[in-house]
Amino acid sequence: MSGSVRLERKKSSTLLNTLKRPHTVKKVRIPLTSGEETLMFPAVKNGDVIERGAKIASPEGEQGSPLFSGIAGKVKLVERTKNGNMVCTHIEVTAPNDFCQTASVLPELRKDAEKLPCRELRSIFRERGLLTTDGRAEPLHKIISGSPSTIKTIVINGCEPEPYVTSEQVLMTSYPTEVLRGAEILRRAAEAEKVIFLIEDAERELFELIKSKIYLLKWDRFEAQKVPAIYPMGTDNFLPGQLSINSAVLNASTAYAAYEAVYLHKPFFERVVTVGGECVAEPRNLWLPLGISIRDALQLCKGLLREPAKLIVGGPMKGVAQKDGEGVVMAGTDAVLALPKEIAGESAEKPCIRCNRCVDACPVFLSPVMITLAAEKNSFEVSREWNVEACIECGLCSFVCPSKRPMLELIAKAKKGIATGS
Ligand code: SF4
Ligand code: SF4
Repeated sequence: MSGSVRLERKKSSTLLNTLKRPHTVKKVRIPLTSGEETLMFPAVKNGDVIERGAKIASPEGEQGSPLFSGIAGKVKLVERTKNGNMVCTHIEVTAPNDFCQTASVLPELRKDAEKLPCRELRSIFRERGLLTTDGRAEPLHKIISGSPSTIKTIVINGCEPEPYVTSEQVLMTSYPTEVLRGAEILRRAAEAEKVIFLIEDAERELFELIKSKIYLLKWDRFEAQKVPAIYPMGTDNFLPGQLSINSAVLNASTAYAAYEAVYLHKPFFERVVTVGGECVAEPRNLWLPLGISIRDALQLCKGLLREPAKLIVGGPMKGVAQKDGEGVVMAGTDAVLALPKEIAGESAEKPCIRCNRCVDACPVFLSPVMITLAAEKNSFEVSREWNVEACIECGLCSFVCPSKRPMLELIAKAKKGIATGS
């Protein structure tokens, strides 16, 4: 093995069920962050009763994005003391028990969407709270900015190289024209020259579908390219060739959110999430409001068949293991997985046996063993000397490590230690 691995895909169980939007979500708990360090202020008060899609928080300045509630209900501000002041950290919205979260009026399709100038498109992205739906979860208007734009190509990354995760695939299959229209909006907002869709070669039908839609729309600035389904190829920061130069790489779900924001005037408050893994009774893809808990998301799939050994937000390679089901779905959450012991593997960590398998596996030619041994001793400068900042956090070193060392956690610890100078 050197730098890549062909993983078992395990995607069929969530592809069997159609994409659904549950109307019975009773509670969301939304952290007051806007994808970065921007200060956020509540736009609601304790006890307010709000509609689905209501603005609940505003950023300080132009850089951040406002937050919106994905359910109707009653507001509670969660506060804590910071430097002697009460600071709001989360906003909870709770619906009455018998309440059904259906949209009252279907929005009208905006007729002039294809004529809007780039400046107006960027301001719609900001006003409607669009964040990128990848691990960055950054305000979209910040990424698509700059005048004149340095972005020549919008790359729509439709690859999902991690096992189980199918949220992008299901969204593109269910709404291919809307995703393409969203990609065209992104291209015009960025003043880019072309759009490239990346699809894994294992997803032949999806590739043909996107190609046929491009042909029907007669958009000659668009093309679809195949990417080998070999992990970590297709992850956000590991794309073939020169694709990341002068490009903005965005998920298909970000393009869809741009379509909804511009054509349907819809704020960003929900996303498609794969709820899967062998422990889930009815694995499927769902539209979930941001801020719904992992526990509630699992319940929407008829709960658990058995106690999971591991709960993960994200895929099994790059995802973050959860201590309990209290974590919440955010803009960058593509999956919630409940895995049994035989899949999650032994969790007992053993000392490093210096087998060098992690070094052989690393796709960017680092020495994960040296980085993580230094991080264990809080010697972050040594981790830096071993070039930890070049790590793309693909998780391959964790995957191959026979000692089950928590490589990704140690790498994150080293990066944080370097960033904070500790
Ligand atoms: S997580 Fe980082 S160090 Fe580990 S294999 Fe991937 S790129 Fe290399
Ligand atoms: S794979 Fe694990 S045990 Fe082997 S050298 Fe790397 S960290 Fe050590």
